[in-house]
Formats: sequence, C-alpha cells, structure tokens
Amino acid sequence: MAGKVIYSIVVPVYNEEKVVLESYKRLKAVMDGVQEEYEIIFVNDGSKDQTGPLVSELCQKDRRVKFIEFSRNFGHQVAITAGMDYARGEAVVVIDADLQDPPEVIPEMIAKWKEGYDVVYGRRIKREGETFFKKFTAKVFYRFLRRMTDVDIPVDTGDFRLIDRKVCDALKGLGERNRYVRGLISWLGFNQVAVYYERHPRFAGETKYPLKKMLKFAFDAVTSFSNKPLKLASFTGILLSGLSFCYLLVVLYLRLFTSRTVQGWASILAVNLFFHGVILVTLGVIGEYIGRIFDEAKGRPLYIVKALHNFADDDQQN
Ligand code: UDP
Ligand code: MG
Repeated sequence: MAGKVIYSIVVPVYNEEKVVLESYKRLKAVMDGVQEEYEIIFVNDGSKDQTGPLVSELCQKDRRVKFIEFSRNFGHQVAITAGMDYARGEAVVVIDADLQDPPEVIPEMIAKWKEGYDVVYGRRIKREGETFFKKFTAKVFYRFLRRMTDVDIPVDTGDFRLIDRKVCDALKGLGERNRYVRGLISWLGFNQVAVYYERHPRFAGETKYPLKKMLKFAFDAVTSFSNKPLKLASFTGILLSGLSFCYLLVVLYLRLFTSRTVQGWASILAVNLFFHGVILVTLGVIGEYIGRIFDEAKGRPLYIVKALHNFADDDQQN
C-alpha cells in the first residue's frame, strides 16, 4: 500500500509522555488533510518516562509512525539530525513535540514548498506562555548571534521548518558535532522563505531546556558560526597593552623627573586583578574553541541508536 513518501515529519521527544499522544493526533489530523503520503518520525532522545512505550504502541497501530530510540540523551539538535538522517520524504518538516509550534502551519509551509522554495522556516511573531526570562534571553540571543556571525541566520526562528530533500541531503554532509541545525541550514543557502505564526504555550509538561542547556546551545551557536570572540579577545589584549604602555610612561616620568613618589598599592592591586580577569576570560574563550576541536577530533558518531521501529518493512531503506 505504501506509496512514495512525500512528507517526513521529524519530532524529537524527551520526557514528553504528557504531550506525545496529543501531538500525534494533531499531526495526523493535519497530514491526513494534505492527502499525500507521509511518515511521522519520532526520535526518542533517551526519555526516562513513558514516552518510549507510548510511541512504540503507536507504531503498532499506525505504520506511518516511525520511531528511532537513542541509547541515552544526546540533545535536541542531535535528535533532529537523526530524524533527518532516516527521513525518506521529498520534504522534511521538523517540529517540537510540545505543540508550541502549531502543526496547522505545516500546510502553509507545504504550499510555499510547492511554489518552489527549498527552506520554509517558521518565524514567531508572538510567544505566549513562556517566562519573561526565556523570551528576553531568546530575543537578546538571536540579535547577538546575528551581530556575531557572517551567516544570515534569521531572528526569532526556531527549528520549526520544512526543508526540501536536496537541503536534507546537503545537511547530512555536514558532520559537525556541536550542531546548531538552524544555523547550518542558513549556511547552506538555497531559496529560503518565512511563514509567520504565533507560538503557543506548551500543551503540557515543562521545558526541557534548563539554563545549562540553553547556555550550551548558545555557545554552540556562536562558536560554530563565528570566530569573533577570539578576535575580540586579541583586540582587548592589544588595546589593554597599549593603554598599559602609556601608563608605564607616565609612571616612569613621575619616578625619574619629579620628586613625587608613586603611591598606593590599591591601584596596583586593582590593575592586577583587572588584568588577571581579562586573561582568564580570554583563556576561557580559547578553551571553548579548543574543547570543540577536541570533540570534533575524537570523531565519535553523533548518536547511538538503541532501536528502530517500523523502518524494517520499507522497500527503500537508506
Ligand atoms: N528535546 C529533546 N532533547 C533534549 C531537550 C529537548 O529531544 O535534550 C525536545 C523536546 O522533547 C521538545 C523539543 O526538543 O520536543 C523542544 O524542547 P522544549 O520544548 O523543552 O524547548 P523550548 O520550547 O522550551 O525551548
Ligand atoms: Mg517547547
């Protein structure tokens, strides 16, 4: 019965037992309306709750549901990547499980794709039901990132998007480990267009991005797309050495040509502490990059798959 899959919907799930069934229901309703062959690929990113069993059960009832289970938590961006690796559709849609991004926008994306666009990304005009802190940090982050990088990464845009098969294949060729998928897609180029939508509150459960993960995400984004922090570090170094040199001249002049003694350990201490701070920050910046080089150098696979469901009976496995 299975014709050629036109649409692959990739849904990363991590401890989403409260939303995953609703998510499936909404996606199914929308995709049935499209009336072309589709598959929904759930990627279980090492959930510790009932998400795994729930989705496995879905797989038994609906052959269009595919399921990739990771051996542990590898992170949201890696889960998306795995979904794309296994997707067979002509167009691949990435959407979060929590229904913050409404599945009802997908037909709009499909319409744009049919007009000939290769990447259709969802741009949020409004975010509801998220904390002020999250909205504020997100806003600052996207604008900061834009200044830091030379790649044209659209602001206020998450991973909710549709990409054409050729973009998906190109993406597979980018093997970096610390992945910022939406940035990589921008970097690839192709014809990109936005559809606008309002971001709703989570259907249930809570955010899986605590501050620590948000920070890692932000560092990954900046370091993958820019070496400006390194340049900033050298620039600060040059500026401060220049200033210190001028100050040294002043001190020497006072010592040699005037009778005024140079006084005060307070100033010495202040300058010392300040410079130590700058040096440590600079080392930290360099360390971030070296850590990432180290990660890449090990060349480990991005993720380990524990189990695959509903993939085996396909005629054209990749
Ligand atoms: N997620 C994941 N692995 C993680 C964290 C999150 O697969 O380590 C999934 C999560 O289940 C959800 C999506 O990524 O489908 C987005 O996460 P979340 O909604 O918690 O992020 P937020 O919308 O709060 O930024
Ligand atoms: Mg969310």
